[in-house]
Amino acid sequence: MKLVLASQNKHKAEEMQAILGDDVRLLTFDEVGCGDLEIVEDGVTFEENAVKKAITVTEKTGLPAIADDSGLCVDALFGAPGVYTARFAGEGASDDENIKKLLAELEGVGEEERTAKFVSVIALAKPNEKPVTYRGEVSGRILFEKRGENGFGYDPVFYLPQFDASMAEVSAEIKNSISHRFNALKLLKEDMERGNVL
Ligand code: IMP
Repeated sequence: MKLVLASQNKHKAEEMQAILGDDVRLLTFDEVGCGDLEIVEDGVTFEENAVKKAITVTEKTGLPAIADDSGLCVDALFGAPGVYTARFAGEGASDDENIKKLLAELEGVGEEERTAKFVSVIALAKPNEKPVTYRGEVSGRILFEKRGENGFGYDPVFYLPQFDASMAEVSAEIKNSISHRFNALKLLKEDMERGNVL
C-alpha cells in the first residue's frame, strides 16, 4: 500500500517507514511532484497542524496522505514549547539553538521537576473523506546537558528513565519501539488492520 508522507523532514520519514514496515510504502514529496510545496503550520494544536498538512497533500495529489505533527511539552514550562517546538529559538532555528534555549529556560529547575513528554499526532487524509488523527506520547525528563549522538531534534536532552539513557543514546530500534511516533502509528496500524481506514 502506498501513502504520501506530508513531510520534508528526512528523520521523521525514516522513522515512520521503519515503524510501518514493508506493508506500507511512504512516498516523499519529491516522488509525487510536491517538492516545492510549503505548508504554514499555524494551528494551535498538534491535531490542527497534522490535519492541515495531510489534507493539503491529499488535495494536491489525489492520493491518501499521512502527516506527523510533533513536539515537546515540558511541565515546568506549562506545556511549552508544544506546537512551537521546531521554532522555539526562532524561525529556522537549528536543533542546537532550540536545545540551548530550552536548557536556559529550565535553569534552576531541579531534576524531579524537569518532567516532559514528546507528542506525535498522525493525521490520515483521503480524498473527499473526513481526516482521522492518532496521538502518541512518551514521557521522560529534560537533562541538564546533551547526551548521545543518535536521533534528531531534542533527543540528546530527553532522558528515558526506563533505559537510564537519553533518546539519543538508545538505538534507532529501541527509539522506534517506544517513541511518541511509534505509539501514534501503532494506533493507525491497528485501525488499518481492522479495515477501518484504508
Ligand atoms: P514539526 O512536527 O515539523 O512541527 O516539528 C516538530 C519538532 O519537534 C521537530 O523539529 C523536532 O525539533 C521536535 N521533535 C519531534 N519529534 C522528535 C523526536 O522524535 N525527537 C526529537 N525531537 C523531535
